[in-house]
Amino acid sequence: MNKKTIALTFYGGAETVTGANFLLEGILEEKKKLRLLVDCGMEQGDKFCKDCNFEKFQYSPSDIDVLIVTHAHMDHIGRIPQLVRLGFKGVIYSTDATRALSEIMLEDASHILALEAKKAKKEPIYKAEDVKSALELWKGVPYYASTELPSGFSFELKDAGHVLGSSIIEVKYGEKRIVFTGDLGNSPSPLLRDSEIITDADYLIMESVYGDRNHETKNDRVHMLKNVIEETIKNKGVLLIPAFSIERTQVLLYELNEMIESGSLPHIPVYLDSPLAIRVTQIYKRYTSLFKESIQEQIRKGDNIFDFPKLTFTEHQKDSEGIASNPSPKIIIAGSGMSHGGRIINHEKIYLSSNMNTLLFIGYQAAGSLGRKIQDGLKKIHIEDKSITIRANIRTISGYSAHKDMDGLVEFVEGMAENVQKVFVTMGEPKASLFLAQRLREYLNVSAIVPKKGEVFKIDF
Ligand SMILES: [Zn+2]
Repeated sequence: MNKKTIALTFYGGAETVTGANFLLEGILEEKKKLRLLVDCGMEQGDKFCKDCNFEKFQYSPSDIDVLIVTHAHMDHIGRIPQLVRLGFKGVIYSTDATRALSEIMLEDASHILALEAKKAKKEPIYKAEDVKSALELWKGVPYYASTELPSGFSFELKDAGHVLGSSIIEVKYGEKRIVFTGDLGNSPSPLLRDSEIITDADYLIMESVYGDRNHETKNDRVHMLKNVIEETIKNKGVLLIPAFSIERTQVLLYELNEMIESGSLPHIPVYLDSPLAIRVTQIYKRYTSLFKESIQEQIRKGDNIFDFPKLTFTEHQKDSEGIASNPSPKIIIAGSGMSHGGRIINHEKIYLSSNMNTLLFIGYQAAGSLGRKIQDGLKKIHIEDKSITIRANIRTISGYSAHKDMDGLVEFVEGMAENVQKVFVTMGEPKASLFLAQRLREYLNVSAIVPKKGEVFKIDF
């Protein structure tokens, strides 16, 4: 039999959490080679779009045949319109829900990019028209349907349980399976189905955001949230929650819905102050068939799971500004999730200097972001030239993470430990990735490594 080799290159999401971008090329010995990208994410940190995103891709976008997208977070989709602008003409695949969410995430991103680029006196990496061009190439495919690709490859999407529409991508060639986890859900999730158990991967490219840490248990997190809200009510203060538009916001609305409608929390004004999160919530309502069965049943019985008394969606700027004159206590959920910009920073400017108020982190804060600095204890910050001394209570509940924790990640690999040839630990800060790789080697006796950015691995079979 002829030698068959696949090359795997880690262009992004290696030794770092954000900017997922993996290239699979095969079969190298054959004349016609498939060039397949998995995700094309933006590196994020000190800015929404770090300077490195302005650099050229390390491959020619016009040479790529196919891009498969795991889910609609910016660190997985953020450079897709740029890829298209620079010559990609292939097909983009994802679930329908991921495509629908990506459309509004990328449209929104094009506005933020324009603002950031203007400040830096340069051209944005893409514009709204590039988002449109990307969507024209983008096809939705259902979970568990096999899609043929050129050169004898095919792929299948499996539920990753991370955010609505999120997928684990299984690329197949003959009997071989190369599996890309994307981000893996912190199952069981309140809304989504559990992430699929994979048993037959030959090669695994996995995330490791929480590779060295465990979350609080789910019960703890609901108690902690309830305590923080009760404290806010007692202080007649303001609870600020910077929230990611996708999933975290909907989970939060769902859990507030449960606590308020069951009477375990008194009615308190809640503002969802994010036009993006409001639009994302509409998409969640459109794809309820992807929710887990118990939630679908609850919806069938007539509960509007994302609505409860005293919840206000403040879509327009004028309504957002009006929140400040409404009496406390109150809860404000706003983006961006890491305080890079968006309406949350307007509220942080107003509320962080008082010890009656609380800033609650429920999502991952990337190194360098304002959110991370505050979380790490910085007491003096600047928001748009205003200097603020932080006196508000700073809290973190990690149980709301949409990612598997260390034990969850090890358990995920355990199912395939007997067969898997190699595990590439990616999409984590180096400390987390290295720790997880070591754990996988010691606990499961699998070959696990942390690839470097730009590193190429040849897989022979
Ligand atoms: Zn994600």
